[in-house]
Amino acid sequence: MARYVGAVDQGTTSTRFIIFNHSGEIVGFDQKEHEQIFPGPGWVEHDPIEIWTNTLDVIKGALDKTGVSGSELAAVGITNQRETTMIWDRLTGKPYHNAIVWQCTRSRNICSELIKTHGQDGFREKTGLPVATYFSGPKIKWLIDNAPEIRSAAEKGNALFGTMETWVIWNMTNGAHVTDATNASRTMLMDLKTLSWDDDILKLMGIPRAMLPAIVPSSDKGFWGRTSKNSPFGAEIPVCGALGDQQAALVGQTCFNVGEAKNTYGTGCFLLLNTGETPVVSKHGLLTTMAYHFSGQKPVYCLEGAIAVTGSLVQWMRDNLGLISSAPDIEALAASVEDSGDVYFVPAFSGLFAPYWRSDARGTVVGLTRYANKGHLARAVLEATAYQTLDIVEAMNKDSGVDLTSLKVDGGMVYNDLLMQFQSDILNVPVIRPKVAETTALGAAYAAGLAVGFWSDTDELCKNWSIDKTWTPLMAEDVRSTGFRKWKKAVERTLNWEDE
Ligand code: ADP
Repeated sequence: MARYVGAVDQGTTSTRFIIFNHSGEIVGFDQKEHEQIFPGPGWVEHDPIEIWTNTLDVIKGALDKTGVSGSELAAVGITNQRETTMIWDRLTGKPYHNAIVWQCTRSRNICSELIKTHGQDGFREKTGLPVATYFSGPKIKWLIDNAPEIRSAAEKGNALFGTMETWVIWNMTNGAHVTDATNASRTMLMDLKTLSWDDDILKLMGIPRAMLPAIVPSSDKGFWGRTSKNSPFGAEIPVCGALGDQQAALVGQTCFNVGEAKNTYGTGCFLLLNTGETPVVSKHGLLTTMAYHFSGQKPVYCLEGAIAVTGSLVQWMRDNLGLISSAPDIEALAASVEDSGDVYFVPAFSGLFAPYWRSDARGTVVGLTRYANKGHLARAVLEATAYQTLDIVEAMNKDSGVDLTSLKVDGGMVYNDLLMQFQSDILNVPVIRPKVAETTALGAAYAAGLAVGFWSDTDELCKNWSIDKTWTPLMAEDVRSTGFRKWKKAVERTLNWEDE
């Protein structure tokens, strides 16, 4: 009897395999980091072979540690770092080049050209995205332009493009070449309404259609294949669920209703708001993207706000200033003072992402007086995460007309009580942390488990979700509005800093 579902979480720094039971609780876990390769300034690569080998190792590791046998798994799902792009040979399985990671800026010239001819928002109506190096399409074009053997192989149908879930599924199933709709929505090549590759954009970018995977539902009853008996699973298990990491967290948090949102607080923050069955084109600096697509149901869309620096500002305070010795220590330092003493820290270290998208901005600390001490600075650091989130929520309200009623949270920073209380205060809505904080892997497990009937429907998933802690707003309205007004002034001080 299959009692569990497994999920591969192929992340930016590591790969994990997690085994969940029917209640959505973790029963087994293993993790392995992979090398970050930096071939030049702003360039980031991963070795796809290392990633696949690590995937096999963590599957074996998690099963061995818990004594669960592969035959006890009802299905396997995959979640992944989004946008990271690779191309490999269909016949040999060998990558033509290392994977180009989402953070990599090597496609800057390609994007500048596209912006010159079509404008930064020239593809927004169709794809939901502005032109940016972040997305997969320009990375594919860079690979085709710079590895000449790829073009001829692609035209013969022998070169295959994939994001990391495509690569893992292809290897796991012995050759299914598919991408789930959430990952496809981050390529800048998919028409959001039809969920198909857009021929005009492909032509413009010179990308042969034959190299692209089939776009499939995130949870697919007509599953893509089965694992092999000779794999670490030792059994033939359906592979039938895949979601990009942030969308997986949305599903893991069971945000299935319009207006429900989750924010993941890690290195950066990613806030996704479920906007239902129609894509909402953003006029306020957000991304319009797929939330999930379960087979037999209409696709669901969301608005996404991406913030570059949140948890990494805490790391900066630890590593570059040495004011704390570990990230959680920031809470005691911040609690040593009553408030930020009117100090604001805007961490525009690599410009500002959503909703500003200003690459000329640089970080700043404003409001300093002789009164300010390291406690005030620590508070300003934590408050920066909450204010950046408020910026995104404000843009979402304007774009969608949907008012946020509560915010579900996950990620490393949500164990900071002071931050979460301030977040609730400044948003003026309850902030809720669930019991299972591994929402990303859980979302992938849910996608796979739904496809095979391990879970019957989303109502059943919602029953698994339970609250660990809720913070409710306590702040007076005048304090809140003054704080946000001053934050906006502080953001203005960061702009126009870098010379063109
Ligand atoms: P990622 O998945 O992006 O690697 P995690 O969800 O593991 O990130 O969260 C780690 C981040 O959270 C780090 O940047 C760290 O500085 C920050 N962090 C961890 N614990 C705390 C805490 N108690 N208070 C504030 N920040 C924290």
